[in-house]
Amino acid sequence: MRFLVLRENFILLTQQINIFNELMPEVTESRDNLMHFKDKKLASMIVHSFLCFGCVALNFSTELFAMHHLREIPTRFNISQIRRVTMSTISATFDYPSQEDQTAPKILHFGNPKLYEKSLPFKLPEEMPLAHEILEQMKLATKGMGNVGIAAPQIGILKRIVMFAVPATHPRYKTDGVAHPMRIMINPSYTPLSDEKNLEWEGCLSVPGMMGKVWRHTHIQYEYTDLEGNKQTVKASNFHARVFQHEFNHLEGILFPLLVEDKRDFGFTEAIMASDEFRKSRGLG
Ligand SMILES: [Zn+2]
Repeated sequence: MRFLVLRENFILLTQQINIFNELMPEVTESRDNLMHFKDKKLASMIVHSFLCFGCVALNFSTELFAMHHLREIPTRFNISQIRRVTMSTISATFDYPSQEDQTAPKILHFGNPKLYEKSLPFKLPEEMPLAHEILEQMKLATKGMGNVGIAAPQIGILKRIVMFAVPATHPRYKTDGVAHPMRIMINPSYTPLSDEKNLEWEGCLSVPGMMGKVWRHTHIQYEYTDLEGNKQTVKASNFHARVFQHEFNHLEGILFPLLVEDKRDFGFTEAIMASDEFRKSRGLG
């Protein structure tokens, strides 16, 4: 068995935390922009750290990476410490995170008819306790998965609640360099603030390992009820606006692949990320 890691991820990660030279001997083969490892746990750790919102948002600060992935703050990294990573073993297939806790609610995948149903609004304030209960299930389902956001229908609950945090940077998505903290939104809605739209890549927990280009309104204003029952209004642009529209679409039973206009703009993450077009658009080419 060999376990694959995208070369760019390997180089970026190992250079940022200074373990490039120590990890290179672990690479058994390097071909087609993929590094092959024989050690599944090590490959998983590298993939996982790239899927990790916390580490991505903070640009892999050494302390955060250590706390999150090694559960301690070592003075320096070495290969034995990395092998002692306590996180559960996840699939080493690029961009295919597995759920840490087998008892957690399952994430429904593209093709499941439930994902195409429209979700019901919460009757407030009487259903506020229900919103809190569903939120706990959503948190459980995504624990350790490093996703940007999730909507209740993705765990099979057809109620209008979403949560997301916007990372400042992300290996796959075109971000704005500005992080927005986690928001939990009950009964969200939005209005575009102009006719301007932009076409960019998206991915989804329900469509693992794949990406697609989708048109989204560039500037929006969205409203929601927070967990305390207060109405909130937020203006959002670019990536922040895109994330909102993606999550909102889940409540309408719309997954991003349904919105991809040119079918060539939909495919496997590793193939897209290795393409010249993608590399150029991210300043890598
Ligand atoms: Zn999604």
